[in-house]
Amino acid sequence: MKKIDNMRVHFYGVQGSGSIFPSKHERDESRKLSDLDLLKQLFTLLKGKADIRQPIGLTVEDLLGGEISTENLTKFREQFELSEQRVYGGWTSCFRVETSDGYDLVFDCGSGFRICAQDIVDKWEVHGNRTLTIFGSHAHFDHTEGFDQAAVCFDPRNKIRVIGNNQYLQALDQNLGIFSRQIDMQLNGIQTPLNYELMPAEFSSIEIRDLTENPIPSEQDPIVGEYHDIHVPITIGRTTIQPFEVFHPDPCLGYRIEHNGKVFVYCTDHELRHGDDPDHPLQIASQKAEDVLRKYSQGIDLLYRDGQFLRAEYDGQIGVSSAFGVSRKDWGHSCFEDVIDMAEACKVKTTYIGHHDPNRSWSERNWMDETLARKSKQMGRRIELAKAETVIDL
Ligand SMILES: [Zn+2]
Ligand SMILES: [Zn+2]
Repeated sequence: MKKIDNMRVHFYGVQGSGSIFPSKHERDESRKLSDLDLLKQLFTLLKGKADIRQPIGLTVEDLLGGEISTENLTKFREQFELSEQRVYGGWTSCFRVETSDGYDLVFDCGSGFRICAQDIVDKWEVHGNRTLTIFGSHAHFDHTEGFDQAAVCFDPRNKIRVIGNNQYLQALDQNLGIFSRQIDMQLNGIQTPLNYELMPAEFSSIEIRDLTENPIPSEQDPIVGEYHDIHVPITIGRTTIQPFEVFHPDPCLGYRIEHNGKVFVYCTDHELRHGDDPDHPLQIASQKAEDVLRKYSQGIDLLYRDGQFLRAEYDGQIGVSSAFGVSRKDWGHSCFEDVIDMAEACKVKTTYIGHHDPNRSWSERNWMDETLARKSKQMGRRIELAKAETVIDL
């Protein structure tokens, strides 16, 4: 693997609300496109060799470079430049940043965290300081569900530090007791068979809190190890991470990650609200959060942002991949069109739109991505739908 210059960003989970697996129909559609592309190329090749007046003068073996075998067919196929079908991945939110000074930072523990953790374990077998810092956005299930399936939690040599708001720490602790080291016996074993006694890694927690508005409580909170003021960046080696509040029904944090002048903003689950009354308190709060997000995203290298709905879906004119619409106002997610607008206004170099709706069909994702590809050309900056397994070097 190439040396990391500044930061390497891995996308493990870009799916919103719930994990999905591509349906048979979606797999068939994708395969059909691949097959058609191959056939097109194959017949173009044959056309170049065939003549109306005489036979092609080639055996199948000549064409293939040997007998019909899987190996020869694979080699034959590889000579064509086939277009790659887009794969979006089905795991919920999880990103990882590897820094040039050797740190692993994870953002959210959706179902993508299982594979992310396996990669970290493999890396640590060779080298690594066995310390992982996880930054949580918010407590919703699609941002926490992968935690107890992560290999990194089961090795006593590993130190796992979780940084997030109180709700995020609570969401992990209430079923597992990893911070408080106690479990409500009524809840034990209900959501998961696991708890802290079966998870031997060393866990610690830091609550991000607005200490001006909410000073440290006098009574010790058993799930909080330390407090960190939201206005102060967190420093890990040569990386600084600035948390900020975004707008969502559950208190939610975005993060601006900076290393050697390169910047990545991770902003999942944020709604730029479209209400009729500009003085509505929720409208004001949403706009305020959007302003902060845009301030932190000016001229940045990489942005990941929630753009779950098309505007017509948000307004309830149509449903997601269905004709039946319901208003999505106050569901906590932004419109696809608003992310494009933000990327342009903030002059973001590369933008990935994510938190894909589980009901969004593969063909519709593909169509949205085609639209973004055309927009990117017009705008002169890169913008596309987020795909799991994308790796970006900044
Ligand atoms: Zn979510
Ligand atoms: Zn959420």
